Amino acid sequence: MTVVEKAAHALPQLDAEMAGPLHAELAAHGVALVVALGWRALQAKDGLVGQVELENGQRIETDFVLLSIGVRPSVQLAREAGLTIGLSGAIAVDDVQRTNDPDIYAVGDAAEITHGVTGEHGRIPLAGPANRQGRLAGEHAATAMSKYLLGCMLPVSRRRLEVLKRRLEARTTIAGWSAPRCWARPLCRYLDCRWA
Ligand SMILES: Cc1cc2nc3c(=O)[nH]c(=O)nc-3n(C[C@H](O)[C@H](O)[C@H](O)COP(=O)(O)OP(=O)(O)OC[C@H]3O[C@@H](n4cnc5c(N)ncnc54)[C@H](O)[C@@H]3O)c2cc1C
Repeated sequence: MTVVEKAAHALPQLDAEMAGPLHAELAAHGVALVVALGWRALQAKDGLVGQVELENGQRIETDFVLLSIGVRPSVQLAREAGLTIGLSGAIAVDDVQRTNDPDIYAVGDAAEITHGVTGEHGRIPLAGPANRQGRLAGEHAATAMSKYLLGCMLPVSRRRLEVLKRRLEARTTIAGWSAPRCWARPLCRYLDCRWA
């Protein structure tokens, strides 16, 4: 088996030194690892896949290919409509999923999320956030009353919220982040929404 990874090391979301043991584990199990190279083409043999061609022209014989290469939002239509695209490559939205055109909402994989801990914008292409964003956008479009619910974290009771707040405080202290920046704003919005 060969793993082809375009980034500099396997599991690129980890720091390089943390990927070291993973590389050793792969090697111990006889898995060949190619890093810093993407695949360029698949070559057929007798009607089935037979070779993977890498960006440097190297060819790997195979009879099975599993592509696990992530997703990127298709935002051409949004761009052409004059909507703002965020740094993450997804459509920028406000707290109620409105784009910079207040008559257009964006939700799901194509829309940015606000990280519940850091307050930063990014992407989480998962069904849970897409579902909640869809409900929020629909509710706001119909009532103009909805409020943003703490990024991707939705605690259901005040007691659970207190626990979450303590955990966030501990985590932000460890990480050296500024606690108010991390949780105060979304937390207050959440409290306003549930208990105002
Ligand atoms: C293989 C796979 C497994 C996954 N597993 C999980 C999982 O276990 N848990 C999880 O939380 N998430 C999972 N996801 C992610 C999840 O499916 C997505 O995050 C979620 O579906 C995004 O919802 P969405 O509404 O943004 O997009 P979609 O669900 O993709 O809906 C977009 C719809 O728009 C339609 N469409 C596109 N272009 C046009 C057009 N021009 N005109 C009209 N219609 C159009 C598409 O056909 C599609 O029906 C998985 C995704 C994949 C691909």
